[in-house]
Amino acid sequence: MSGHPTREGWFRGSAYTCDPVPPPRDRAFRLILLGPPGVGKGTQAELLCGQLRACHLSTGDLFRAAACESEPSPAIRAAVEAMHRGELVSDELVMAMICERQKCLRCHGGFLLDGVPRTLSQAEALESLLQELDVALDAVLSYELPLDEIVERIGGRRVCTSCKAVYHLASRRPNADGTCVRCGAAVGQRDDDRAEAVRIRMQAYNEATRPLSEFYARRNQLVSIPAGGSPAEILARSLQALEAHQSILER
Ligand code: AMP
Repeated sequence: MSGHPTREGWFRGSAYTCDPVPPPRDRAFRLILLGPPGVGKGTQAELLCGQLRACHLSTGDLFRAAACESEPSPAIRAAVEAMHRGELVSDELVMAMICERQKCLRCHGGFLLDGVPRTLSQAEALESLLQELDVALDAVLSYELPLDEIVERIGGRRVCTSCKAVYHLASRRPNADGTCVRCGAAVGQRDDDRAEAVRIRMQAYNEATRPLSEFYARRNQLVSIPAGGSPAEILARSLQALEAHQSILER
């Protein structure tokens, strides 16, 4: 993970501190990434973190890590079962996990929230929490792509079982022996990237998450980004859009 924040505090909760602690920055970014499953948010989050030196706070990664715990609590077990079916985890549990990790929201290095909020209730709860912590969001980057391209992307997606790096069989391949380029662990398909779970996830997205664009547009925080093309092209577009948004706000 050289060059990437360790995310220890995010994965292991409030009792843990990242080592090293990210140093204060002249300019720390605090962003939310929105977009349907398979649009490439995880890949963009990783690339953006590399550029902005912020920490990738993914709730999906958090639940996938919790799924590997030897003795999960009943609430975590229910969450992981919902995730494997492609359904949303309850708002209460998601927000409890975020509150437990509020240190990550106050981190000097900044953050990219990926996968949360996913419902209006989460968006409202997160807004109140950030206000309480006196943390200002810079922007909400919303990635957009036609449905047929999304289906193609999800079918080819593979994820490292250890460091969670994201690959695609067509455009961003793991090593030839199916291992992770970054850490060497095995790379595989997520349970919820299989066809039936994808259908349920798309439905959950359309019903619960799509309205969030309007929520953030009303607050002048939404930055829409067409998510077609290579990861590097989308990254360049994201950075440009972010800069344009910042200069509009500064005027
Ligand atoms: P992701 O990696 O963001 O696609 O998340 C994978 C799965 O984790 C989702 O399909 C949900 O089951 C669960 N999940 C992650 N974040 C949330 C959230 N904010 N609210 C509800 N469920 C979530």
